[in-house]
Amino acid sequence: MKKYKHYINGKFLFGSDYFESLNPATGEPWALFPAANEKESEYAIESAHKALFHGPWSEYTATQRGKLLHRLGDLIAEESSQLGDLETKDSGKLRVETRAQSGYVADYYYYYAGLADKIQGDVLPIDKPNMRVFTTREPIGVVVAIVPWNAQLFLSATKIAPALAAGNTVVVKASEQAPAALFKLAELIDQAGFPPGVVNIITGYGEPCGRILTSHPKVASVAFTGGCEVAKKIVKNSAENFAHVSLELGGKSPMLIFEDCDIDAAVNGIVAGNFGASGQSCVAGSRVFVHRNVHKKIIYKLKQASKNIVVGDPIDNKTHIGPLATPEQIERVERVLEESIDQGAELIFGGSKSKGMRAGWYFDPTLLLCHDQSIKCVQTELFAPVISLIIFDSEDEVVDMANDSEFGLGAGVFTQNLARAHRVSQKIRSGIVWINTYRAISPISPFGGFKQSGGSREAGLDAIYEYTRTKTTWINTSPEPMANPFVIR
Ligand code: NAD
Repeated sequence: MKKYKHYINGKFLFGSDYFESLNPATGEPWALFPAANEKESEYAIESAHKALFHGPWSEYTATQRGKLLHRLGDLIAEESSQLGDLETKDSGKLRVETRAQSGYVADYYYYYAGLADKIQGDVLPIDKPNMRVFTTREPIGVVVAIVPWNAQLFLSATKIAPALAAGNTVVVKASEQAPAALFKLAELIDQAGFPPGVVNIITGYGEPCGRILTSHPKVASVAFTGGCEVAKKIVKNSAENFAHVSLELGGKSPMLIFEDCDIDAAVNGIVAGNFGASGQSCVAGSRVFVHRNVHKKIIYKLKQASKNIVVGDPIDNKTHIGPLATPEQIERVERVLEESIDQGAELIFGGSKSKGMRAGWYFDPTLLLCHDQSIKCVQTELFAPVISLIIFDSEDEVVDMANDSEFGLGAGVFTQNLARAHRVSQKIRSGIVWINTYRAISPISPFGGFKQSGGSREAGLDAIYEYTRTKTTWINTSPEPMANPFVIR
């Protein structure tokens, strides 16, 4: 089995402790990864701190930083097939998706490469005589990036690229569930020629690795994508170092299907939002509200569509739904579905492990008709190909139901009525609203949520604000000495 190494201070280092990574398509171990202990986690932070304050990185011009990011983007684009294959083996995500996503990840590095030398301040029209006042945007400091298992390359790019463009140094903690692609990324970072310590990549468990990375006094900012329970621990840890914490958390995103929609487009949207990425997506549109006048048609078409969905090996290009990430996930989904049916949900199709697969953790695409939002599957982020469908009668009613959630990440609205599309998207409390489409993303477009989906923004110009702090400089231009030092004006 391949034995991976930490990437710290520009060197690939064996770890002291190792764990096996399992291939979700077979359930078999396929590689060994180092679980960072206290010493290794601290060394990664010390290296990033040294690189920020005592290495050549701080002398790089913004244009030079941009060029390095561009070179890294090129290397990622060249290696996108290999990166995608590694992610598939490790996480069970479809190879067609991981390969395409790895290629697109390069665009995030290109976007921030271009932005690096456009991060600028202002000269202020200050209200005092003989004063010149200007602002600059300074790097925030050592950034810790912690990512979940389901899109390691992509979710690390949305943190590493803007953080480096802004002049910070980074420690990335890959998820212990599927870290392989990030260790390949470490090789590309090394090849691109970043100075030692500017990017460090390790993996490990919440304890001790996650705890140390998020509470260390030399860490200025923690950028976290993952679930709410871990986010709470990170926010508590930030009381130790007062680090800035940016959170991209879970969701239970609503899809609103109005009676004036294009039915086929809506069905495609529901399939994309729920069965795409095997439902293991933070923006899964898993609360589907359908107008009473079209609900029979929509359910019929979803049933027909489900018959053509291929559940199978993620490496096969014909597969639509691959395995779930862990066997515990299957057990959890089964428990929630059982409870939901006991509460009165009607199972329309699916609802069980895929019978055709001998090994691995596969679950059939599933649709439950729920009479209201009190049903367990409507409340719970399942991370599985499960739709909870609820019928509605009026626009006001469905907007209220859509907003009645602790989360607020994405939302989908399907309607042919332009005024309604604008009206409803304004009222929905979520960070992203897709009208007549779903799951579209871009490096140019900010991504993030409201409420318990976390309030930070990744991608777009907004991300630069997460990784910089404004410095204000005052220059006294008067030829006279300071006036009365006891009176501040
Ligand atoms: P998770 O919260 O269990 O783990 C995320 C990361 O946190 C992992 O790297 C894990 O090792 C680390 N971690 C665990 N304990 C820690 C601690 N005490 N301190 C610091 N780090 C710790 O999430 P997961 O199961 O890997 O991923 C699924 C979750 O991620 C879902 O809730 C999903 O919605 C969310 N997600 C959100 C987005 C988004 O952009 N909003 C994108 C993808 C996934």
